[in-house]
Amino acid sequence: MSSPKPAHLSLPRKWRPRTFRELVGQEAVAKTLSNAIAEGKVAPAYLLTGPRGVGKTSTARLLARALNCDRGPTVEPCGECASCREILDRGDSLDVLEMDGASNRKIENARELIETVRYKPQRDRYRIAIIDEVHMLTTEAFNALLKTLEEPPAHARFILASTELHKIPATIVSRCQRFRFRALTIADVSGQLARVAQAEGIQATPRALDLLAAAAEGSLRDALSLLDQAATLSDGVVDEAQCAEILALVDRELLEALYSAVASGDRSAAISTLTRLTEGGHDPRHVFKEFLTLLRRLLMFSAGATADVPDADRARMETLARAMPYENLLRALSLAVDSDQISRRSEDNALVLQMLVLRLCELPRLRRIEEGMRTGPAPVDASAARAEPARPQPGARILGLVPVEPERRPAVPPPPEPGGQIARFHEILDTRRRLTAAQASLAESVLVEADELVLRFGIDRAAAKEALEEPAARRLLSEVAREAFGRPLRVVLKTGPPANGDLGQAARDVPRATISRERAVSRAETDPVVRSAMELFRAELTEVKEEE
Ligand SMILES: [Zn+2]
Repeated sequence: MSSPKPAHLSLPRKWRPRTFRELVGQEAVAKTLSNAIAEGKVAPAYLLTGPRGVGKTSTARLLARALNCDRGPTVEPCGECASCREILDRGDSLDVLEMDGASNRKIENARELIETVRYKPQRDRYRIAIIDEVHMLTTEAFNALLKTLEEPPAHARFILASTELHKIPATIVSRCQRFRFRALTIADVSGQLARVAQAEGIQATPRALDLLAAAAEGSLRDALSLLDQAATLSDGVVDEAQCAEILALVDRELLEALYSAVASGDRSAAISTLTRLTEGGHDPRHVFKEFLTLLRRLLMFSAGATADVPDADRARMETLARAMPYENLLRALSLAVDSDQISRRSEDNALVLQMLVLRLCELPRLRRIEEGMRTGPAPVDASAARAEPARPQPGARILGLVPVEPERRPAVPPPPEPGGQIARFHEILDTRRRLTAAQASLAESVLVEADELVLRFGIDRAAAKEALEEPAARRLLSEVAREAFGRPLRVVLKTGPPANGDLGQAARDVPRATISRERAVSRAETDPVVRSAMELFRAELTEVKEEE
């Protein structure tokens, strides 16, 4: 937000904090600094770090005044002495030199400034250098600064500010007293906007202030500047519609309609809503950014980070968030971030946006595949699949994205006697519980031996065997066996090669987990559903998880 400010009313400047108490949302910093000054503890160098627009530069100037005020050092600089007035009017003074690292990067400038600080003050107590965005300094400039900080003259003070702490050499950081400014929430910012509006006699609706605060993305300075513009352009009352216009906001209802269409997988509604959005004269990049912001807010909301949601928005956010399962919301945002990268390189942003929307429309379908597969192999129709309790299918899952469908392998053809009964066993089981039937069908052999029904599983099917060992599954197998064979049979589950099989000892020695993982990976890679999902979402197969 860098629109020119109207000359007659500069709220960010007028509402710059003049005392530590006026710092919005930075109580910890204000308290520590005031205490240190009150106790006469003045460090040679201060480093103020934190996001932009939260009060670092204001604090630097306030600190300079506190140190150099005629009546100081004091927590409450007078605002009337020459030093105070110069700093208040210009940001610097005879003995306070302010430099913006971003615009005066040259080593000559930095060295010049740092050299001057070595001289005795001309009038005031200290000679102070304020270097904003200090991380932008060149290595040579940092070296000059370091040299001074290693042996600071008694009268020299440095106040450094930066949004990017990690770009400042550790040698510099370690010689400074550090203050971390916290990011401001929408509530912090809109609360301050309300106070300013009231004091300035600006009529503004709470919803309008929330909009401005949200658009300023945590920068109080930007928010005040926006309020400034809104107040100048309004016919008395700053309201939501007018703010939306100033902010060139994409129509919120249309944007939410786009989200809803995507959430329900309605491709044609999604594309027509997208067309309406871009037809409104909005740059596709702009629509894209707003859509991304909406997804991000919904994801945060779903994840439980609800503190920053204005009360008025809560109910609506809840409805929207509920329209998409959390994991799909996560996928949607991740796809949107990918597309954002692509659109930066692309000439045709409208196309990138359309592609994104269409891909997002596939997410609900993906969800249904998962559910369908979880219920067992090859559901004949959707209603049959849903009739099964959603119990995890032992087998492999990829990245939690698409479960690997268990390989469908016909049961070993039953021996002639009592073959008919074994087939019947499988049939009945299939009508009773599809999942259990699927697991039983993975057996290498099913034989009746005396009073026992023996299901023998290959060592790579141990997961199916384990699942069948659960009491409920066992009970079901016994019941069905009794029904199919007309007499009670003890169900015996075994792993290993069939009695007449000749699997080598080597195979038996391979840890089961290794075998099943390898099989899972190869199944995953060849599975058509997984392949198409991977292509659609440009996924890579990085891990296949066994599910217990
Ligand atoms: Zn003063």
